[in-house]
Amino acid sequence: MLSPATEVYLDYQSARPVDPRVVGAMQPYFTERFGNPASLHAVGDRATETLERCRADVAAFLGATPEEIIFTSGATEANNLALIGYARRNKRSGGHVVITEVEHISVMNIGKFLEQEGFKVTKVPPDQYGRIKPEKLRARITDDTILVSVGWASNEIGTVQPIDAIAEMLRGTGVTLHVDAVAAQGQLPIDMSAVPVGLLSVSSNDIYGPQGVGALYIRKGIRLAAVNMGGGQERGLRSGTENLAGIVGMAAAARIASKEMSAEAPRLAALRDRAVREVLSAIPDSHLNGHPVERLPNNAHFRFDGIEGESLLLSLRDEGIAVATGSACSSKTLAPSHTLISCGLLHEEAHGSLEITFGRFSEESDVDRLMESLPGVVQRLRRLSPLYRHK
Ligand code: PMP
Repeated sequence: MLSPATEVYLDYQSARPVDPRVVGAMQPYFTERFGNPASLHAVGDRATETLERCRADVAAFLGATPEEIIFTSGATEANNLALIGYARRNKRSGGHVVITEVEHISVMNIGKFLEQEGFKVTKVPPDQYGRIKPEKLRARITDDTILVSVGWASNEIGTVQPIDAIAEMLRGTGVTLHVDAVAAQGQLPIDMSAVPVGLLSVSSNDIYGPQGVGALYIRKGIRLAAVNMGGGQERGLRSGTENLAGIVGMAAAARIASKEMSAEAPRLAALRDRAVREVLSAIPDSHLNGHPVERLPNNAHFRFDGIEGESLLLSLRDEGIAVATGSACSSKTLAPSHTLISCGLLHEEAHGSLEITFGRFSEESDVDRLMESLPGVVQRLRRLSPLYRHK
């Protein structure tokens, strides 16, 4: 098993360890502080108090009010509730939804589902860096458009979208903006009191909380239809007994992220910049995918001519280094990443990509170890590759 203590873990995008401070905060809620907020006895009351305290913490993290936060089982569920719940509830106002070609797989598949339900879904293409131009998006909006969904940043190539400009462009149009903020949260400041975003999905693990918890921010006044039916928890929008210990963990993670982000983001950006500089100078025919500047502080996404990311990943794995070939959610399929293809890469270029993501426990020595292995591995694989044009 990979032990982050002794091995080099450069795949924070697919999973983050839970911060030990978060584990400490959660622990009592599995045992002596257990409870169901729906119960009418004192144990239930205490669980309700805890739940509401956590809602306030997550709201503060997003610059929102507690009434605007609904806890879910993760960002996939938050995205489902946001898009399907909004489209169904507001279909009398129109039947058109706009997403982009570079969304997380959950939004891409929800888009397909909405088409089956009779909605028209338009996908806006990005530029070569994976960035969406607000004017291009505006050109897709019609009188029938009710909802636009744009990820704040790409979980694959790390490109950050101009969310402020997109939100301002939509202000006053009657079109609601949903933002999947999972890749950006904890790395970029998010303040719902300052940007006119209507719906925003976040997850707990991406801020070093437990997996399987998330939240949807729903701006006051926005109406959604529930997507799952049951006991009516979370204002009837997300039925099912609340995952109290998980929610306590997400709230603790949000408090820590709020405090530490301003120091942590530049620290990670410095590790990333060093990795980018050294990889591009040490390895010929290597390229950076995504935007050179408008990118997440922790993300470096490379492409190496003539070799496959999969072989690269396995060779690095043999050397005790964990990286990803592209999207964590599609790394077990052979299809090239839809994001890279939308940026204009050929299939073989997309297949030659490697994603490195740093996180809270990354250090300079991780870049040292990467640089000790990666150039040699690339050279070895290219020697065996019929695709690489040797010079
Ligand atoms: N959106 C983005 C941008 C993601 O990276 C992920 C995966 N971390 C999700 C949504 C889905 O999150 P979850 O696995 O918590 O449902």
